[in-house]
Formats: sequence, structure tokens, C-alpha cells
Amino acid sequence: KSGFIAIIGRPNVGKSTFLNRVIGQKIAIMSDKPQTTRNKIQGVYTTDEAQYIFIDTPGIHKPKHKLGDFMVKVAENTLNEVDAILFMINAKEGYGKGDQYILDRLQNVKSPIFLIVNKIDLVHPDELLPLIDLYKDKGNFQEIIPISALEGNNIDRLLQVLKEYL
Ligand code: GDP
Ligand code: MG
Repeated sequence: KSGFIAIIGRPNVGKSTFLNRVIGQKIAIMSDKPQTTRNKIQGVYTTDEAQYIFIDTPGIHKPKHKLGDFMVKVAENTLNEVDAILFMINAKEGYGKGDQYILDRLQNVKSPIFLIVNKIDLVHPDELLPLIDLYKDKGNFQEIIPISALEGNNIDRLLQVLKEYL
């Protein structure tokens, strides 16, 4: 089991925290897939049965400046080439403009998308469920997985789900 996984989400949703928790190893292999040259490899998750390479996708989570058509295209191509996309949101802050920007970029993407609802340690389940329902209407997600990257809740389940798909 192996694959390239793009991890996307607006700043501060917890992408780095998540990766730090999941990844125990620096890059161990060189890929023959050309996409790695234009994407930043953030880490590799390796066990006896799986190897997943997490990559950052330039041009997908910084709506501060208007991006050139080229960058938008590059980001779009990347998202279509990866084996899975983890789209991370912040359970506490809920849905916002920055999230919608990414949802728009994901509109025509073919790769399986997993919605990762992070920071569940900060919210009551009564707040979490409406947020999940809202997102169900906004995208076509393979699975929606609530986690706390900080406290480590449900990370095992997320990895289990990835192993089922990849
Ligand atoms: P990134 O910009 O998406 O890479 O976000 P970071 O990983 O840098 O996290 C931004 C902030 O959110 C940091 O202060 C983290 O400690 C905090 N954070 C990340 N994940 C969680 C979580 O699951 N729960 C809580 N309470 N805080 C979190
Ligand atoms: Mg980060």
C-alpha cells in the first residue's frame, strides 16, 4: 500500500501538527513520479504495510493574492495526480472564505477527497455535527473524519481509512 497524499487546508487548521504526529521518518525513497519535483514533500509515513508520501500543493491554500493562471493550473494538475487528498478544516472556527476557496479548487478534481475535521477537542459534539452536515452539501467526500491532531484522537482511524482506499 502506497501513494501520494496532498494535504490541504487554510493556514492554522493543524496540517503541520497532524504531520508531526503521523510521520516518524524523513524521506526514505525517491519517487519516479514527476509531480514530486514541483511539490514540497512534507513527510513520509512508513510501516511494514504502507508508505504514504504527504505533499504540500503550492497555490492551493493561500488566497491572499490572486494567483496566475499557471499556478492555478499546476495546483489543479497536482490534485488530479495524487492518490488521495486530505482537506483539513478547523472544527472550532467552522466554515469560512478560505475553506470555500479550496472547495472551489476541488470542484473538478477526480482524486478521492477525505475531509479531516481537526481540533475536535475544542468543540462540543453538538457543534460538530451541524458542521459535518454543512460540508456534506459542499463537496463529494469519500469520508469525513473528525480528529484532534494535538491530542491524537482518531488519528489511527484516519490511517486505517487510508489503508482501506490506497
Ligand atoms: P497549519 O498552518 O495548518 O500547519 O497549522 P499548525 O499545525 O501550525 O497548527 C496551528 C495551531 O493550531 C497550533 O497552535 C497548533 O498547536 C494548533 N492545533 C493543531 N491541531 C490542533 C488540535 O487538534 N487541537 C487544538 N486545540 N489545537 C490544535
Ligand atoms: Mg504548517
